[in-house]
Amino acid sequence: MSTGSPPTPLEAGRLEELAELLSGRRVVALSGAGCSTESGIPDYRGPTSARRSRSPVRYQEFMARPEARRRYWARSFFGWPSFAGARPNAAHRALADLEAEGVVVGVITQNVDGLHQAAGTRSFVELHGSLSRVQCMGCRADLPRDGFQELLESSNPDYRAGPGPLAPDGDADVTPEESAFRVPDCDRCGGILKPDVVFFGESVPAETLERSWRLYETGDVLLVLGSSLEVFSGRRFVLRASKEAKPLAVVNAGPTRADPVARVKIDGRLGDVIPRLAGALRVGSRV
Ligand code: NAD
Repeated sequence: MSTGSPPTPLEAGRLEELAELLSGRRVVALSGAGCSTESGIPDYRGPTSARRSRSPVRYQEFMARPEARRRYWARSFFGWPSFAGARPNAAHRALADLEAEGVVVGVITQNVDGLHQAAGTRSFVELHGSLSRVQCMGCRADLPRDGFQELLESSNPDYRAGPGPLAPDGDADVTPEESAFRVPDCDRCGGILKPDVVFFGESVPAETLERSWRLYETGDVLLVLGSSLEVFSGRRFVLRASKEAKPLAVVNAGPTRADPVARVKIDGRLGDVIPRLAGALRVGSRV
């Protein structure tokens, strides 16, 4: 995506249109990877996103094949320091301000990076889970990802992870010597340890989906931020909004699957547009 370009007059007009649409309405935001690119976490489908050397691991493969788990955790091991070090950007902060002012009632996020919460967003659902936790697929015990990193380190003394190139979902686009990487199993039951995120080929847990719908229903308008909506999991909210004739707006750099039904679409950079939107709605934002 392009960054830093000054807004065109058309975009400025669109910003007013967007502020008018949101004004006096309860806004539920649906956010995606585009919210976090300005924090240094790449997306999958931006116009200039780097093509990945490999496609993300699928759930069935991860569960069935020890080599797939070794590959996933080796790459995650190298990517974690950069991912964990990412900080909220101006868009996350302005969105949290909009919530504090009562404009935004909550955020349904497809992101797994925790940056909305880190910025101060209080009402949110992590539709696809969080990379900050690891879960045992046997006994369902939870452990923090930071602690698991230490365990990976002590199990692999010949490997050293440090800040480096980051790929979407927090792994690293490097090819470490994966075949020798050792992945610990659950120390309670010997079960498979998996990051607490929804992999491709896996469904969103029913309870998470219920919470998402409850949050969706509290809004009078759905605001899509930084998501191509190519993944059905996020697009389902747009489909329902469209069916219910609930107003819908999009801020995204490049096309999204919601563009044909959006009342307002701003093609722009979130770190620029959301603070200006907050300003237009007279919210003091911390840029
Ligand atoms: P996507 O990659 O399909 O789409 C991101 C969109 O955001 C693109 O259209 C891109 O052009 C746009 N964009 C990028 N930077 C932007 C910016 N600064 N301002 C405005 N727009 C910007 O992402 P998605 O729709 O969220 O789907 C990806 C899936 O992968 C999600 O389900 C998510 O779970 C996962 N994912 C998460 C993260 C994360 O947690 N940060 C990162 C990558 C992927």
